[in-house]
Amino acid sequence: MLDKSRGKILICDDEEGIRESLKLILSNHYNLMVTDSGEQCVELVNNAPDIGLVLLDIKMPNVNGLEVLKLVKEKRPNLSVVIITGYKSVETASEAANLGASGYIVKPFKSDEILSTVGRLMEKINNKTK
Ligand SMILES: [Mg+2]
Repeated sequence: MLDKSRGKILICDDEEGIRESLKLILSNHYNLMVTDSGEQCVELVNNAPDIGLVLLDIKMPNVNGLEVLKLVKEKRPNLSVVIITGYKSVETASEAANLGASGYIVKPFKSDEILSTVGRLMEKINNKTK
């Protein structure tokens, strides 16, 4: 039985199609917030302590995902961030890991992949806050 009252997930991607498919995959199970901009992502994380997990795109105009990752981790070191990117790159993946990302998913993703990664992390988050 899923308890939607627990931690929220913030989806941050500049592509509407990706935001929509993540919403379709996750909205039955989790409370979601959605943004198309890195700046707004940082602002939301700083102002909404109930966000436990961020699904974060890398390639975005203005502030890219790695910069966003760095900024949110400075303020909220325990926040879980999963990178979802169209560019499979060993350098980017290891930089993301060094900056504290909890996962790295390459587009196009399968819904199973999203659900299992998110499920595993949200379970950890919810156990901690119980
Ligand atoms: Mg993008």
